[in-house]
Amino acid sequence: MIITADAGGIRRAADLLRAGQVVAFPTETVYGLGADAFSERAVAEIYRLKNRPSWNPLIVHVADVTAARALAKQWPDLANELAAQFWPGPLTLVVERAGHLGTGTIAVRVPAHDVALKLLDASGLALAAPSANRSESISPTTAQHVLRSLPDVPMVLDGGPTRWGIESTVVDVTVDPPRLLRPGALPLRDLRQVTGSITLPDEVADGAERSSPGMSKRHYAPRARLILTDDVSSVSAPEPVAVLTYETEDVPGAEILSVDPREYAADLYAALHRLDDRGVRTIIAKNPPPTEEWLAVRDRLTRAAAS
Ligand code: AMP
Ligand code: MG
Repeated sequence: MIITADAGGIRRAADLLRAGQVVAFPTETVYGLGADAFSERAVAEIYRLKNRPSWNPLIVHVADVTAARALAKQWPDLANELAAQFWPGPLTLVVERAGHLGTGTIAVRVPAHDVALKLLDASGLALAAPSANRSESISPTTAQHVLRSLPDVPMVLDGGPTRWGIESTVVDVTVDPPRLLRPGALPLRDLRQVTGSITLPDEVADGAERSSPGMSKRHYAPRARLILTDDVSSVSAPEPVAVLTYETEDVPGAEILSVDPREYAADLYAALHRLDDRGVRTIIAKNPPPTEEWLAVRDRLTRAAAS
């Protein structure tokens, strides 16, 4: 059920979350499938609804830095600086897990969305919230996308389309220099202004074919087969075919997104949803430029194209 994210809607959602249920809600990146991060039963329901593999960890959303620190054993100076600069915002920090939460690491962030923050406040919980879609498929940027992918979710709080439209950037700050685990909405250039050097995984750094099979996993994928290419006119593939490109390419009938990487990212998932809705069998996507600005978009397109 889709519910408007007004005061009454948020109150109802918070009640459900406190009762151990899952609720989908908007963040500034994509819609999240939220549940009490420290209720085993509630978290198990996230994995079940998404059909998410159990090895894929969840990001915990909290209201502020103090709440984040309480989940960490070590809170490095760098985490403080990054939080001061970018929170609330689309940056996830991986830190050592506090002793009372077991061993290993935990990923945390403070979302920059009024509805998400109000929900954290009203529920008084830390919320695990992976993207609100079936595992491997396209992340939702609207409440309608959520319901189409997860018809069994008890409640979707509707806060309109999400601003960034792509997942958060994930950085491991347990190591020095810090390590980029997932490129995302927060650009590397901005990150580096605080971190200085940062380690990039090879396959992210060069955008090339992934070396380890674990990394080449299909993810963020539409129903249609997606083919990434430098020359969209040279590909022949099962019809109906759609071409996805950006403004500088003149391809008649193509789905054309912005040539600005941030705007392109904001529209990408919605465009893939639109093409799936049109019943397209093949999406031929123009390779974005091999520059760092396009890192997150290239990562998502490469994974969407992995078979
Ligand atoms: P999402 O699928 O958007 O919920 O994001 C989850 C992603 O966050 C994972 O696929 C990892 O890339 C990252 N992540 C979450 N928790 C951890 C962790 N403890 N250590 C390393 N990466 C993590
Ligand atoms: Mg996801």
